[in-house]
Amino acid sequence: MLGDAAGNRITISVANEPLRPGPEGARLSVVDYDGGSGRYYEPVDLDAPALLMQGGLDPVESDPRFHQQMVYAVASKVLENFDTALGRTFRWKGGARLRLLPHAFRGVNAFYDPDLFAVLFGYFRADEANPGPNLPGQTVFTCLSHDIVAHEMTHALVHRLRPHYMEPSNRDVLAFHEGFADIVAIFQHFSFPEILTGAIQATRARLSSADSLVKLAQQFGYATGMGQALRSALDDEADADDPAGEKRRKRDRLNRQLYETVAEPHERGSILVAAVFDAFFATYQCRIRDLIRIATGGSGVLPEGDLHPDLVGRIAKEASKTAQNVLTMSIRAFDYLPPVDITFGDFLRALVTADTELVPLDDRGLRAAMIEAFRIRGVYPDDVISLAQESLLWEDRTGEVPDLPVNLLRQQLVLSARAFDRYAPGRESDDDPIGPWASALRAWAQENARPLDLVPGLRVALQGFHTVFRVSPDGQLLIEMVARFVQTQKGAPDALPLRGGTTVVASSEGKVRYAVSKPLPSKALRPEAHRAGQRRAGAHALLSGQENLADPLQAWGDPRSLRRRRARVSFSALNRAAWSAR
Ligand SMILES: [Zn+2]
Repeated sequence: MLGDAAGNRITISVANEPLRPGPEGARLSVVDYDGGSGRYYEPVDLDAPALLMQGGLDPVESDPRFHQQMVYAVASKVLENFDTALGRTFRWKGGARLRLLPHAFRGVNAFYDPDLFAVLFGYFRADEANPGPNLPGQTVFTCLSHDIVAHEMTHALVHRLRPHYMEPSNRDVLAFHEGFADIVAIFQHFSFPEILTGAIQATRARLSSADSLVKLAQQFGYATGMGQALRSALDDEADADDPAGEKRRKRDRLNRQLYETVAEPHERGSILVAAVFDAFFATYQCRIRDLIRIATGGSGVLPEGDLHPDLVGRIAKEASKTAQNVLTMSIRAFDYLPPVDITFGDFLRALVTADTELVPLDDRGLRAAMIEAFRIRGVYPDDVISLAQESLLWEDRTGEVPDLPVNLLRQQLVLSARAFDRYAPGRESDDDPIGPWASALRAWAQENARPLDLVPGLRVALQGFHTVFRVSPDGQLLIEMVARFVQTQKGAPDALPLRGGTTVVASSEGKVRYAVSKPLPSKALRPEAHRAGQRRAGAHALLSGQENLADPLQAWGDPRSLRRRRARVSFSALNRAAWSAR
């Protein structure tokens, strides 16, 4: 229903690639099997000349082929955003295609299933009594929500980049998965200026009060009879007319309590979203100040009535640019995140470090705004003495760890650079360390275990190795080599294993700059690493006693996991028959 409202119709531009009917491209494959009725819908052929000429299908809610196109477009945009931010072409394990099923099952749900390597979207009838903006009993397709598609896609991407983030080794891990998926959904949403113009006009440039924009997947939320959107990025208490700062102080106190007490992954994740959103909003306000001054002859007070459409257009552009900056900055943090056991504090440190490497001068003010927003919410990283930018940077380890094997790096560098050459035959980039490289890197890590905070003598697994090419806003090229190592300590058979690991960031010549570690406890390590290991082991023991870890997915999606498991069972049954036929 919202799709028909003015300002809700946009065109998403994605890079062209040859497509088979489906659409099926190099990294995504839309498979339209309807698990509810047990049949396939005709796949859309976006490369058909007639469709090419009209730039794809127009939005039609009743045509499954439009649903296929929509899912493909939004998912491709998410991939593109990751490509840009990560400075390399993202690839699924083994070069596989992620399957997207726009009508996988009947049910109020959508989820990424790592076992099926698919994102499954459900559809359902809107609540008869409390349908919100939908018609009572209208069919609602989760695959038609930009935010839901982007959210679930992000789960799949995060799982590829950090498979161990599905293990709830501390309260922040699953919450990070959820919060990060929302961050990508919201800021990709905000990166389309067309969407923002209506809200900017309606709220007179105070975007934070544009409820309709901030609430995620609104249609989805209303239609399940909850009467409100699923989650919101903003506190209701945010208020500008508060001269004494009384409300603000109260809000800050509440915010800090939230981070100390909330455990449910979605709710806890929304703390992360809210922090990042605050930083976005502060930066946005700062950036449009000059426009407002120009428009008001310096008074800063906007006149009564509608804003000039040109002003709205320019403000929308600033807002969408800021959203894109926040999105890119958040994704870029990934290369500086530890391979296991993430906390929100780690994310903040990774964010600040990655951004400082690329943009040494924080002239956009985004970094400072991020730090402030996290501080307000009581998110303090372990082991930092202050929240000044310099103390939030990961510790510089230059000179402490021997260089990475140079020959290996040269080969990897050449191979990865080819991925950016449009004319190179067989363009590819490979995140999966293969054969001799993997063993050479593993041997290097094993040899230098102690300075890398890995336990000497315990097996080291190489989780990923890649080259990163990033271009800074002033056109500088930054090249980095990133490798991730994981160690596992066996525990009881049904308990969550205790893992340690280190993400190594090195220069193109193999000089190790950062070793972002989550050590296992061992006296053989540096004393501070051993202490961190002991702390982690203690927290892990405590947690293993509390939670049901048998099915980490259970905590992952919404509480309606039973329905999901049923959908999964029926889907896997048809999966065996259907895939072999295709
Ligand atoms: Zn989720």
